[in-house]
Amino acid sequence: MDISYIINELGEEREAYFQAVAPPIYQTSNFASATVAEMRHKLLHEEDEYMYTRGNNPTVTLLEKKLAALEGAEHAIAFGSGIAAVAAAILSQVKAGDHVVYTQHPYSWTKSLLRKFLPRFGVEATMVDGTDPENYRRAIRPNTTLLYLESPTSFTFDLQDIPAVTAIARAHGCATIIDNSCASPLHQRPLQLGVDLVVHSCTKYIGGHSDVMGGVICGSREAINKIFKSEYMTLGAILGPHDAWLLLRGLRTLPVRMERVAASTRQVVDYLAQHPKVERVLFPFLPSHPQYALAQKQMRSNSGQFSILLKTKELEQVELFCNSLHRFLMAASWGGHESLIFPVAASYATDQPAPILPLNLVRFYVGLEDPDYLIQDLEQALDKV
Ligand SMILES: *Cc1c(COP(=O)(O)O)cnc(C)c1O
Repeated sequence: MDISYIINELGEEREAYFQAVAPPIYQTSNFASATVAEMRHKLLHEEDEYMYTRGNNPTVTLLEKKLAALEGAEHAIAFGSGIAAVAAAILSQVKAGDHVVYTQHPYSWTKSLLRKFLPRFGVEATMVDGTDPENYRRAIRPNTTLLYLESPTSFTFDLQDIPAVTAIARAHGCATIIDNSCASPLHQRPLQLGVDLVVHSCTKYIGGHSDVMGGVICGSREAINKIFKSEYMTLGAILGPHDAWLLLRGLRTLPVRMERVAASTRQVVDYLAQHPKVERVLFPFLPSHPQYALAQKQMRSNSGQFSILLKTKELEQVELFCNSLHRFLMAASWGGHESLIFPVAASYATDQPAPILPLNLVRFYVGLEDPDYLIQDLEQALDKV
């Protein structure tokens, strides 16, 4: 399906709302039935009906239709945050006694879910170096039901070979889930590479303006309906209609934002990669990166995130560099209009265990600013260290 069609036309029912170009926000919790028979039908088929907004709401449904189509999925289900989508997707594939294999360096709260939360309910998880698919195979046990991927990963931007991991999963009867937030549905289509469920934090590129949170799971109609009747309806982490509307507005400009972000990021990365004060840039689209060929094979383009390792091990120098940047906000998240940094040094406190990632690692997100404007800022900050 054409991306322009999906974003501008798919699911819009303008004749039902006075040909308004922007869809209405159906700000209602409840939908009435005219007869007992109609209400009975809705109760039996709530996944396909408008009955109660914790189930379906037309503004949210419009967003779900577009996100499913962008991923090439039969169906999608939206959540109030990315981690709610991650949690519902994982919960849908495990029960007490099951085991999950997941890649190292995933999103922090995904790791917390797998390492701290699910063990309380008898679900175990093993973290592997996902850059070698054989590590997934080696970690599989008779009770493994799920292989979990996040490619590229959140701070190191390591890739997993998606077709190789899904082939291993199929051979062992395991399901696969991938967190595709980093690539966006435009730059990577994991369902076509054999993955069962794709999740996104819509807070990032889909919203695109740092003003709304959301998440989504995309997959087969059967898998999504099963999640609807279980994790979705019982845990209730829904997306409100107003937030769905903001995400729809964000979607309208997704392709143009991604194109700009991708081109600017390559320019900023090229500048940093040759800078004598930068030890290494973690960005799979650099030809010198060990996973460059894999990136070319399974992704359509880079996104706006990468990390650098500064050529210093001194905490004060790292802090001086970060504090000297004025055109990059220091913050979590990414995917909005504004460029950001997230230094590992910020998660370092002397009275706590050292972070797993090196202290000289600084994660970047390149937003919609002029890349030269950003490079000037990097130059003056690097001059100081
Ligand atoms: C931000 C993020 C999440 C969580 O999304 P929220 O919308 O913040 O709940 C999950 N995965 C990745 C890769 C993320 O960057």
